[in-house]
Amino acid sequence: MYIFVNGKILDSELPAVKVFDRGMVFGDGLYDVIKFQDGNFIFLEDHIERMKKSANFFGIKFPYTLEEIFEIGQKLSTMNNLKDGELYLQLTRGVDVIRDHIFEDDYEPTFIEIVQPVRKMNPEIWQVGGKVLLHPDLRHKFCEHKTTDLLPNVLAKKYARSKGAYEALMFREDENGKYVTEGASSSYIFFDGEKIVAPKIENILPGITRMKVLWLAKEMDMEIEERRVYLDELIKMKEVILLSTLSRVLPIVKVENLEFKKGEIARKLDMAFKDLLSSHLSIK
Ligand code: PMP
Repeated sequence: MYIFVNGKILDSELPAVKVFDRGMVFGDGLYDVIKFQDGNFIFLEDHIERMKKSANFFGIKFPYTLEEIFEIGQKLSTMNNLKDGELYLQLTRGVDVIRDHIFEDDYEPTFIEIVQPVRKMNPEIWQVGGKVLLHPDLRHKFCEHKTTDLLPNVLAKKYARSKGAYEALMFREDENGKYVTEGASSSYIFFDGEKIVAPKIENILPGITRMKVLWLAKEMDMEIEERRVYLDELIKMKEVILLSTLSRVLPIVKVENLEFKKGEIARKLDMAFKDLLSSHLSIK
């Protein structure tokens, strides 16, 4: 497989990143995942804007323009013979001479682009709906950024999958009880019978799919409330919907033993999202 690392296209089997890369030793980096289809990198501008904002926040240089990232992605998809797939971007602070927590401000970052086939999902899940399991959110306070240090996320996902569920539904606790944050690699929204209730962006990722779907809901005159959603409210919810670049709009029919219907709101949002994707796809 051909990959891009700091200006060069290389064989992925060959060594490409130095061992003292801060991404490798400290998880001092960012990443993003973009779906592509027929040469279109879906919502690429939004993903790059999010990544750039985070790079700025952490003081990591952002070395390429949107156009350059797009061209590299196109080249890789052609060289790897992939019409459809996932584009993975990774940006780390750069390389140390020895392992040292302290860094200077003038590091040259490491920028990687990889294309791979879309991870396999059984298409039936969109028909029957998914099942998710509760898991404590054990992460730090930088969850509004897509940092590469994903250990709590991968363990939460592994826990869910090992018990036959599709995803984790992570929660934190405040003085009023346990409240929903997000999935290991997805966002959640709910329908309470009258309005859409979305966990507020407070130390969770501002998901691109979440942003697009909430915008579509607003366009359809649905009422939206962004706030903390407590686990003891789940019993009153009519629909639970999972959102992400790969899962798109996925109705959730079971949270632990609580059952939900695959409802009308998920169906409407899914249709509108598909329309948005196809209109976006027509713009090269
Ligand atoms: N939350 C987390 C923790 C994620 O990793 C992802 C996947 N990137 C999402 C939410 C969904 O984000 P997006 O819609 O941008 O894929």
